[in-house]
Amino acid sequence: MKSIVDLRSDTVTRPTAAMRRVIAEAEVGDDVLGDDPTVIRLQERCAELLGKPAAVYVPSGSMANLVSIRAVCEPGDEIICDNTTHSYNYETAGPAALAGASMRLIHSPRGVFTPADVTACLRPPGEHFPNSRMVIIENTNNRGGGTVWTTAEVEAIRNVSESCELHLHLDGARLMNACVAVGCRPTDYTRHVDSVSLCFSKGLGAPVGSIVAGPMAFISRARRFRKQFGGAMRQSGLLAAAAIYALDHHVDRLAEDHRNAARLARGLAEIAGLRVNPAAVQTNIVMIELEERLGPADAFSARLREAGVWLMATGPRTLRAVTHLDVSTDQIDAALRIFTTSCRSEASTLTQAATS
Ligand SMILES: *Cc1c(COP(=O)(O)O)cnc(C)c1O
Repeated sequence: MKSIVDLRSDTVTRPTAAMRRVIAEAEVGDDVLGDDPTVIRLQERCAELLGKPAAVYVPSGSMANLVSIRAVCEPGDEIICDNTTHSYNYETAGPAALAGASMRLIHSPRGVFTPADVTACLRPPGEHFPNSRMVIIENTNNRGGGTVWTTAEVEAIRNVSESCELHLHLDGARLMNACVAVGCRPTDYTRHVDSVSLCFSKGLGAPVGSIVAGPMAFISRARRFRKQFGGAMRQSGLLAAAAIYALDHHVDRLAEDHRNAARLARGLAEIAGLRVNPAAVQTNIVMIELEERLGPADAFSARLREAGVWLMATGPRTLRAVTHLDVSTDQIDAALRIFTTSCRSEASTLTQAATS
């Protein structure tokens, strides 16, 4: 079998043998009835890790954001966030469909915005306007290229949210990547926000699930909407066990993914036809821009796929590569060789086509 380097996303990781053993041995109950001991253990552990009074386990990162949004927003409310935000782009308009909330967008460089950006989005009081209700920040920012917020940047947004009585939610699907990159604790970020979500099925390598943490009253509303959205599960301790294992064993190793991403970016930057800025790679995501002569991103990625490198087109001329638990440094080097060959043959094929 041809070997494949799968750089499409850090969601593609499969549970390791050790994680599967933990899953097999997990103690379970009925979590809807509130007696799955492993889910309870995960929720308590995450509440502590994230410095919040309570937490609830949900099936996906999207649901984590959507129950958080629904717990805060009523129809007619508005959410302020960057245009790169996951909730805006990849949750099928869930904030509108499920909470009746509109979204006011900031266009910041790489998804990290300022208090002035938030202030500029505020609606005046009055019966004509949406109610500004909530701010969402995403750390790391996915579409921005795995960008890391500093704790000071988050604190600055907290100050403006607090003074304007806006709920501040942190989409921390990849919060652990940010913490490892900066060398700080999750609470260094989360003490500045009202609620936070964290994904276990990204770089942490668990098969399923996310956590939402926040104040008691917020979490009990989030639990109610988890049920309403169909996300309350029964013997989900099997999944929670994998998440606990991931927190124990897969956090520090994220540094390896970051090193592999940096290595990939440095190698790609050397290849004619590709535009990559290694200095912009802060975590495990590499954004790649194609020069015109390499053709459109989806066709280019289809050809790379045939050669054994899988990644995703994120725009007409942009591709995203994500490093993770299931990609070794040797595979990064193999991917770079395939990129080099593809860019060379691609450029010559397209030049021939243009001149013939
Ligand atoms: C992946 C991701 C999510 C959640 O995605 P699911 O596929 O629903 O688990 C949420 N926010 C961000 C920033 C993400 O990258």
